[in-house]
Amino acid sequence: MAVVQFPSGVRLLTDSFGRVVRDLRISITDRCNFRCVYCMPADGMKWVPRDEILTFEEIERIARLFVEGLGVESIRLTGGEPTVRADLPKLVGLLSELCTPDGRPIDLALTTNGAKLGRMAQPLKDAGLRRVNVSLDSLNRERFAEITRRDALPEVLAGIDAAVAAGLAPVKVKVVVVRGWNEDEIVDFAEFGRERAIQPRFIEFMPLDADGSWSMDKVVGADEIVAAIDAVHPLEEVPHGPEPASRWRYRDGAGEIGVIPSVTKPFCGDCDRVRLTAEGAFMTCLFAQDDFDFRTPMRNGATDAELGDIAARAVGLKWAGHRIGKIDFVRPRRSMSQIGG
Ligand code: SAM
Repeated sequence: MAVVQFPSGVRLLTDSFGRVVRDLRISITDRCNFRCVYCMPADGMKWVPRDEILTFEEIERIARLFVEGLGVESIRLTGGEPTVRADLPKLVGLLSELCTPDGRPIDLALTTNGAKLGRMAQPLKDAGLRRVNVSLDSLNRERFAEITRRDALPEVLAGIDAAVAAGLAPVKVKVVVVRGWNEDEIVDFAEFGRERAIQPRFIEFMPLDADGSWSMDKVVGADEIVAAIDAVHPLEEVPHGPEPASRWRYRDGAGEIGVIPSVTKPFCGDCDRVRLTAEGAFMTCLFAQDDFDFRTPMRNGATDAELGDIAARAVGLKWAGHRIGKIDFVRPRRSMSQIGG
C-alpha cells in the first residue's frame, strides 16, 4: 500500500517497508561553479538544456503538493550548485511560505559549496531560508584547489562566516572523506568546528562520482573517523532520529559532529527522503535505477492528484536499500551533481 489517505485530504506516501516520506531534496540546477574531482569531470559535462530545467513556478507547485498534500515537512535545495541559479532568494521566498496542513512552517535548508554565500547569506536569510549545509573537503588552500579545481577556499570560509553571522543556524560543514586525499584533516575539521560553533558532518565517499574512480579502499569508514577525533577530543554518541547522520558530542561540551555512514552502515531502513532532479525526474533513492518524470505530465496539464499518483507509484516501488559493496550493485546512470546530493 503506497498511499494512506486521511480525512484531512493528506495522502501520506508510505512505501512497502512502512517508511513514510517526510523529506524532499530538490535540485534546482545541474550546473556548478566547482568541478570537484570526485563528482564531475574537469570538462565535458553534458548540461541539461535550459528549457528542460523546471521553472520556479513548477518547483513551487511540486513543493506545495508535497507539503500540503503528501506529508513532506522538510525541503532541502541542492544542485549542481544552487547558488548559481539566478534569483535564488526569489525561489526561497516562494518556498518559505509553505506550511504543513496543521500550520507548521517547513524546515527549509540549502546545500551549497559556499563560494557565493558571502554575498548571498543575508538575502537568503531575509527570504526565509532557515539553515545551510556548506560542503568543504579541505582547509588547505592548495589541496582545496586540487579537489575542487577552483582556488576558492577564502571565498568559502568567508561564506561560512557570513552564514553564521546571518543566523542560518545550525551551519553544518559537510566533509567527504576520501582515503589518500584528506583523511589527515579529520581532526583539523573537528577543531575548525569547535572554534566556530559549527557542526562538521563527515560523509563516506560513495560510488556516485562522474568518472567512476570510486573504490572501496578509498572509503574512510565512520568508525575510523570517530576514533580519530575521539583520540584527541573525547566523544560520546547522541541518540538520534531518522536523520542519516550518527551524532557525537564532545565530552567537554564544545559542540558536536555528525558522521554519515552511507557505505559502511547504510541507514536505508530509516530513509524518509525522496528527490527531484533539476529536470523534474522524481527519484526515491540516490542509487535508484528508475526515475519518474514529473515535468512532462505537469507541462501537459496533469492535476495535482495525478502528480500525487505518480509520486505514490514511485514510492510504492522504493527498494529496501542500496547495494553498495554487494556483488549485484549497479551504479546509477546519473552522478551526484546530476541527481542533487
Ligand atoms: N554544490 C552543492 C554542495 O557542494 O553542497 C550541492 C550539490 S553536491 C553534489 C552535494 C554533496 O554531495 C556535497 O557535499 C558533495 O561533497 C557530495 N558528493 C558529491 N559526490 C560525492 C560522492 N561521490 N560521495 C559522497 N559525497 C559526494
